[in-house]
Amino acid sequence: MFKKVLIANRGEIALRVIRACKEMGISTVAVHSTADMDAMHVRMADESVCIGPPPSNKSYLSIPAIISACEVTGAEAIHPGYGFLSENSNFVDIINDHGIQFIGPTAEHIRIMGDKITAKETMKALKVPCVPGSDGSVNSLEVAMNVGQNIGYPLIVKATAGGGGRGMKVANNKDDLENAFLTARSEANSAFGNDEVYIERYLTNPRHIEIQVFGDGKGNAIHLGERDCSLQRRHQKVLEEAPGPSISAEVREYIGNICSKAVASINYAGAGTIEFLYENNEFYFIEMNTRLQVEHPVTEAIYGVDLVREQIRIASGFELSLNQNELHPNGHAIEARINAETLPNFIPNPGTVTMFHAPGGLGVRIDSNLYSGYQIPPHYDSLIGKLIVHGRDRKEAMERLKRSLDELIIDGIDTTTDLFHDLLKNKDIIDGNYNIHWLENWLLDK
Ligand code: ADP
Repeated sequence: MFKKVLIANRGEIALRVIRACKEMGISTVAVHSTADMDAMHVRMADESVCIGPPPSNKSYLSIPAIISACEVTGAEAIHPGYGFLSENSNFVDIINDHGIQFIGPTAEHIRIMGDKITAKETMKALKVPCVPGSDGSVNSLEVAMNVGQNIGYPLIVKATAGGGGRGMKVANNKDDLENAFLTARSEANSAFGNDEVYIERYLTNPRHIEIQVFGDGKGNAIHLGERDCSLQRRHQKVLEEAPGPSISAEVREYIGNICSKAVASINYAGAGTIEFLYENNEFYFIEMNTRLQVEHPVTEAIYGVDLVREQIRIASGFELSLNQNELHPNGHAIEARINAETLPNFIPNPGTVTMFHAPGGLGVRIDSNLYSGYQIPPHYDSLIGKLIVHGRDRKEAMERLKRSLDELIIDGIDTTTDLFHDLLKNKDIIDGNYNIHWLENWLLDK
């Protein structure tokens, strides 16, 4: 087992990884920018190294600075968290060349899944159901028109290098296609420096259902069921739950087994999430994330498994600590993402937190880097915490979420907590009756 791990991240996820390391008896090294001198992850780690000025590209994304921090402290492995360098295959190659282990899959697997066309081709070959669409990239309007004729409208033009919902355009009919094709291409070019696009049928009312998988790199893999992450604003998840209100035990087993077989057959190592759109009882693969997800705690709550511990075990050459027969979901979990933003327009609102009080009690977990007096720097993502509740069933989880939101105190800044108070009163939410468009429509009507 590793003796010392460096966490190449900040905020709540850096704390999350430090917690797992501590329980495993592993020493921790935090890295931080000058804006994060007083951050909680720096206080909680055994050692810390300042790696640069506030902008991420000069600190949290600086590969030389992170490697130097490993060398200075003697850290043997890096946990990347999510975001930043977590899905950067070059980073993995470079640290491996320096004899440092990456806590995650191989560079090759990150590369395959990071390109949406190769990801889709790989999944198709592994018998994972995919959205009907073009065969590979679409390089001209003429080809795009042919695809449109074959698969029908509406369709969506998507960037091969896409991420964060950018470089995607919907065409409702033939006349829209030229504009969608050209705009998606130019958006992709400016966002990712790569104008390659492909085309898929546009699903009109799907849910976003994702499957958590784990591989040991030696041909064994498990799945830990699904999360329903359909409540999104601008393709950003806002609230997630597990199990999915629309997924039965049979469906879970069906899609879960397809996913675990797929990752086992490519000798995938570590945590992964296979994302699907789910419409009319059919699953359609959209992408695979080769890292830990923000919403992983809902899975941890219902399966009682520490996913970060499993990631670290696998990276240091151990077997998975569980097999599929031991994994049974228990109860229901919901996560509310809390952002430092001003409603109703979700404008980032960093500032000084004058008072922070975390809720507690049975089935309540808060993963947050806040403390009273903390000054939230303006340079980073506005996520300041996740409130995760677990109950015996969905109703109990919702009551618990409401109660713990009432207990949560964050003074001095605006946050998105009121959004959840409102959502919990809504009949569709109470009934679990929503899809990927629900939240944006509801926000428009409010
Ligand atoms: P990104 O990597 O940019 O997040 P994804 O492929 O994961 O891109 O898609 C993000 C979101 O875009 C999905 O959750 C869904 O809301 C929408 N989307 C993507 N592909 C389709 C599709 N074929 N039909 C309908 N919506 C889609």
